[in-house]
Amino acid sequence: MENRIITFRHCGKDIYCFNVPVECPICGQSLLGRRLEDAPVSIPNCFVDGHHEKCSFLIKPTKGSFLREYDGQADLHVGISNTQGIVYNYIETGVQRVDCGWEECISVPLVQSDTYNLINQWDLYLEQFSTADIWIPDRYDEYEHNCYSFALTFINRVLAAQSKRQLSRMEFTERFVVPRTKRASKYITLYRELCRSYYYIADDIQTEEVSTQFLKKN
Ligand SMILES: [Zn+2]
Repeated sequence: MENRIITFRHCGKDIYCFNVPVECPICGQSLLGRRLEDAPVSIPNCFVDGHHEKCSFLIKPTKGSFLREYDGQADLHVGISNTQGIVYNYIETGVQRVDCGWEECISVPLVQSDTYNLINQWDLYLEQFSTADIWIPDRYDEYEHNCYSFALTFINRVLAAQSKRQLSRMEFTERFVVPRTKRASKYITLYRELCRSYYYIADDIQTEEVSTQFLKKN
C-alpha cells in the first residue's frame, strides 16, 4: 500500500505532505482550529490495481512501476481486463492472460456498470477475439502491430457490436488516455518530491509528463 498524498492551504500556498503537521511549515502557526476550507484533503491516487478493474483498458510501464521507476520516457504497455481481473495483453509471444503484474496502472473503464448484456458476454468475446490469427506471435510488430493495436481493435469491435462509432488511435488517445496520463504525471512528481522531503509547497506544480509517444506510433 502506497502512502496517501494529503494537501492543505496555509500562507496562501498549497502544501502537500504524507502526514499533516501540527504547525504550518511556512509560518509555524498551529494548524488547529483552521478554517474548514483550509482543512486537509487527500488527493485521489490515480493508480489502481488493474486486477480489480473489470472490463477496462489498462496502462502500465513495460518495466517497473509508475511511482518508483518510471522516467516519463520509457515504454508503456497496455491491456484489456475481463470481468475476473485477468489482463489480456499482446506481446512478442502472442496474447498473454495474466492475473498478476498489473497492480499499479492507469485504468480507462470501457463499460458502464448497468450494461449487463455487454458485461455478460465480455469474457467470452475477449477470449474469442484473442485467439484470432491476427494476434499470433509472428504478426507482432513493435511499432505497427502491438499491444495498443490489440486493445484498440478490441475496443472498436465492442463499439461496432453496439452499433457505435469507431475511434481512431489518435481520438482514443486524446480523449481517454492523455487526460489520465497528465494527472498521473502530476501525481508521480508530487509523490517523489514527498519521498525526498516532508513537504512540497507549491504555487504551481511543474511535472514531467508521461509520454504517450508509444500510442502514436501508428
Ligand atoms: Zn502558514
